[in-house]
Amino acid sequence: MKQETGTKRIIIAIDGPAASGKSTTARRVAERLGYIYIDTGAMYRSVTLKALQQGVLDGLRHSPEGVSSLLHDISICFDGDRVLLDGSDVTAQIRENRVSREVSFISSLKPVRDRLRDMQRELGRQRGVVMDGRDIGTVVFPDAELKIFLVADARERAKRRYVELLAKSPDGAGLPDLDLLEEEITRRDQDDAHREHAPLRKHAEAHEIDTSDLTIERQVDMVCKLAQEKEAKVR
Ligand code: C5P
Repeated sequence: MKQETGTKRIIIAIDGPAASGKSTTARRVAERLGYIYIDTGAMYRSVTLKALQQGVLDGLRHSPEGVSSLLHDISICFDGDRVLLDGSDVTAQIRENRVSREVSFISSLKPVRDRLRDMQRELGRQRGVVMDGRDIGTVVFPDAELKIFLVADARERAKRRYVELLAKSPDGAGLPDLDLLEEEITRRDQDDAHREHAPLRKHAEAHEIDTSDLTIERQVDMVCKLAQEKEAKVR
């Protein structure tokens, strides 16, 4: 089911809480439609990693305006599935738990949001893009033709995250238990939903899909069907 020639390419915004299936769904939808996939969470994670690497995170809690120097000459690029921060491959590092724990704080800072929003708009300028995050349909591309809001039960989301972490550390050494993961995920959602700038929220036009009992294949089918209906309308 590849892109038909002559079909107008649209923007597909996929938002939702942590581990609701956004990135897997978005990546596969992009593959099927011949679109580009942009993981905006990876961009916030990259800024957070840079703050950790430079040892400035605690200082930023007291003087958040210092974040401007961190952003000054930052470069975040995607090369297929790889994420490059200032030219270095940080694909694995940005998924570490130390980054997950701090990312909501960094992403609550206005200069960070403004900068990444501009980069994201530039990346989606030519359309034909599936972008996932927390504020894509509400702030980054409020004119996106298709807006999806994925949700899932918190326990189910913690299980998915656990399976992901286990795949990276098959002997299970150092893995947080399920209760702790659920607590961390729920806390991150609370922080993301209650921040002042661009909080996690469903756009009024977004299609809400509860993925708790859905297979990935089914989620992808549902989003692709909606996308094709929208493409046909803007043809
Ligand atoms: O999607 P992922 O879980 O990797 O996102 C990590 C964090 O980045 C989120 O918890 C949120 O704080 C932040 N984020 C955001 N806006 C986006 C994407 C991610 O604030 N568009």
